[in-house]
Amino acid sequence: MTDRIYSTDQYASSMEATIVDVDRDDGRVLLDRTVFYPGGGGQPHDLGSLSLGDDRLEVVRVTADARGVWHWLEGGLPRPGTSVHGEVEWQRRYRLMRTHTAMHALCGVVWERFASPVTGGNMEPGVGRLDFELPAWDPEDKASLEEELNTQLAAARAVEIAFLPREQADADPSLIRTKVSLLPDDLREVRVVDIVGLDRQADGGTHVASTTEVGLVRVTKVESKGKGFRRIRLALEDAVG
Ligand SMILES: [Zn+2]
Repeated sequence: MTDRIYSTDQYASSMEATIVDVDRDDGRVLLDRTVFYPGGGGQPHDLGSLSLGDDRLEVVRVTADARGVWHWLEGGLPRPGTSVHGEVEWQRRYRLMRTHTAMHALCGVVWERFASPVTGGNMEPGVGRLDFELPAWDPEDKASLEEELNTQLAAARAVEIAFLPREQADADPSLIRTKVSLLPDDLREVRVVDIVGLDRQADGGTHVASTTEVGLVRVTKVESKGKGFRRIRLALEDAVG
């Protein structure tokens, strides 16, 4: 199993690691430890590079399975046992951390006001969308929702990561903000992301440590997605220009 450094140290942008397996058919390597996020929970996987001495191999895709985290490489494949220096494309990843945190803050604000659960979501660096079951929505709500979201972000709320035993997490249904629990049955420990006082949910993704790092956000669009359902799009202010 790969030691997933990003899970506990979200600001680590590089690592030394050893290749433990090579899959030549797919052009990917399994590492003993990594800072590369393999994607999930709506957050795309990281991009970056693995270096061996002067050779630099682009990491074009990252995936995870029961064995650990696979790094899909462009070009030649090193041998198992090789030491590598890995580096994620930090500007992109940090923007994803800010975006992901903004989306959780939006979850919290919508929950507080409408008690609406999330039905889906997705993000790219700087922009994201969340789908809610939101029958009470009025188009007039958009501006005040954006204002409340920015007030909450500006309040410098800490964003904390904790790990709970599965039994404890199952006993707290508020941790699952999606309508259907996405936790795999065999998961023994649940990672919890807590924007203290605003939003607390089971989540594997990477986040900033304080909501002030998100900066200003805009609610760019609210679309109807069928009776009682709304898609809310947001963007980081510095991503829309
Ligand atoms: Zn999330």
